[in-house]
Amino acid sequence: MIVARTIADARAAIAERRADGAAPVGLVPTMGALHAGHRSLLTAARAECQIVVMSLFVNPSQFGDQADLAAYPRDEAADLAAAEAAGVDVVFAPDPAEMYPPGFQTWVEVERIGATHEGAHRPGHVRGVATIVLKLLHITAPDVAYFGQKDAQQVELVRAMLRDLDLPIRLRVLPTVRDADGLALASRNARLSPSERAQALALPRALATGDSDQARAILLEAGLAPDYVEVLDFDPPVLAAAVRVGKTRLIDNVVLDRSIAPATEADPR
Ligand code: AMP
Repeated sequence: MIVARTIADARAAIAERRADGAAPVGLVPTMGALHAGHRSLLTAARAECQIVVMSLFVNPSQFGDQADLAAYPRDEAADLAAAEAAGVDVVFAPDPAEMYPPGFQTWVEVERIGATHEGAHRPGHVRGVATIVLKLLHITAPDVAYFGQKDAQQVELVRAMLRDLDLPIRLRVLPTVRDADGLALASRNARLSPSERAQALALPRALATGDSDQARAILLEAGLAPDYVEVLDFDPPVLAAAVRVGKTRLIDNVVLDRSIAPATEADPR
């Protein structure tokens, strides 16, 4: 496994492995503090691509809140070991100055998606995500890019950007991985105290109702005031919510597929 710190080194490492031109390259963008959610993306990429590239970059431009950026969990040694174990070929782990050199001034705006929900509650966040994802796609030039359904709005904006900017890259979206108690895995979960974690369990419980009114009632009853809890008309539609538990902001969603009747024992799927 190669660890590239510069854009030039990442391009060279990928080009060398891609020399025959035919081998599909898969990119898994991450901000590190890897957990089983990230691992499911890496496993899919390893199974489906000849060359697996993982980016490891805590992107400052998507954090409005500098305290949140400073507190974001980082453990590069553990992440590199996890990447190696998952069979990653190239890790791209640049410094912020490599990605945002002096004079940087070009940003990607995804207008409608960027103005709602995460975009409305975290000014600059969606623009930061769109810009770093486009940069990572240009640098690594993958055939397939892997994202988690956990960040449903991120998936929707990447889908729009690939289409609007004519990027010949296939989007692969993998289901949300949850802990046994239902909480969606997230790097920020490490910051929850035991009592906050117990309170946070209202989030998956609320979303499991599949109904925004019921979900809101469950969140409020648990003492969690949601930034939003709403059905979003994405592809696929989701019931999504964002809540703050103590100092930690959590997002989660469930896919609503009303066209498929629930499976029964007589009709297993
Ligand atoms: P992050 O490191 O939080 O930026 O996440 C990197 C990628 O992993 C994104 O595509 C996320 O949607 C995905 N991801 C994060 N948590 C989960 C999870 N619990 N299940 C599936 N994918 C996830």
